[in-house]
Amino acid sequence: MSRFWSPVVHTLTPYTPGEQPKITNLIKLNTNENPYGPSPKAIAAMQAAVNDHLRLYPDPNGDALKDAVAAYYDVARANVFVGNSSDEVLAHTFQALLKHDKPLLFPDISYSFYPVYCGLYGIEYRAVPLNGAFEIDTADYVDGGAIIFPNPNAPTGILMPLEQIEALLKANPGQVLVVDEAYVDFGGVSAISLIKRYDNLLVVQTLSKSRSLAGLRVGFAVGHPDLIAGLERVKNSFNSYPLDRVALAGAVAAFEDKGYFDQTCAAINTSRDTLTGHLKQLGFEVLPSKANFIFARHPEHDAAKLAQALRERAILVRHFKQPRIEQFLRISIGTDAECTALVDALTSILHA
Ligand SMILES: *Cc1c(COP(=O)(O)O)cnc(C)c1O
Repeated sequence: MSRFWSPVVHTLTPYTPGEQPKITNLIKLNTNENPYGPSPKAIAAMQAAVNDHLRLYPDPNGDALKDAVAAYYDVARANVFVGNSSDEVLAHTFQALLKHDKPLLFPDISYSFYPVYCGLYGIEYRAVPLNGAFEIDTADYVDGGAIIFPNPNAPTGILMPLEQIEALLKANPGQVLVVDEAYVDFGGVSAISLIKRYDNLLVVQTLSKSRSLAGLRVGFAVGHPDLIAGLERVKNSFNSYPLDRVALAGAVAAFEDKGYFDQTCAAINTSRDTLTGHLKQLGFEVLPSKANFIFARHPEHDAAKLAQALRERAILVRHFKQPRIEQFLRISIGTDAECTALVDALTSILHA
């Protein structure tokens, strides 16, 4: 506390990111990072970008990345906004598009950064409970304000089919719908195909998970040019150059290396389905995941104790001390060796 703080600082409840411990030989399955490295072509492009040009500012518009995203998704450059991580893109989205008379709606169990942005920007919100199967029930999202949710949802991993997203857009033509697709590449279908028909849809994605670039901080949004123009106004009132030259080079190359991307995503999906089978054999209930993590609980073992026992074996998973989900563990999909080590550790913990 300081008497120099602005009034709003006293009211903030900041987001707590998953732990990034400085311990070696740790099996880190707690923050949904990709177990495989970035595309070798992306690494080469970043290394090549470390040169004398770093004395110059980067392109303030990030046009090369916008064009790579636009080509990948068959949209126009004017449909694309880029930023320093999807968290930054989301922050600008909250400020530019989600503050209205009616409270913003998002699921009670969802990305815990959403209420933090609401606090930062003074946005009223209503947390809408997931149904008993931990699914988003679209019927709960009519006649309200703007809507945001991750698809697949986090931390449940459950995917909403595209038809339901389209039904939501049709039912709420006067409200913005933001779909946070941080995990869509692990078995989902992007809603970007709908932006040409729905001017109230904004899709947000990140290169942190499926493109293995969490350390680079690159995210983007795709939507109607008027929504994008609103984001650009906020961005240009905040930071002209959110993406540096190295990040732009690496992100473009990552988008262009579709072969590596497809291969690593497929490997993670296979490992996820194998791990799900093994955990079910150990008696876990595992929610159906289309993400690079699973959300699981054991009917006879306390989740916090399991997380602690894993930690003692140098395996980190994420546990949320939050109503309704305090008996779940969120486990990021690692390499097959890491998944095997997790199953071995859980087997010995459960049988101890
Ligand atoms: C990881 C994650 C993000 C943030 O991604 P960054 O681009 O690394 O900031 C956004 N939304 C959800 C749901 C996430 O899980």
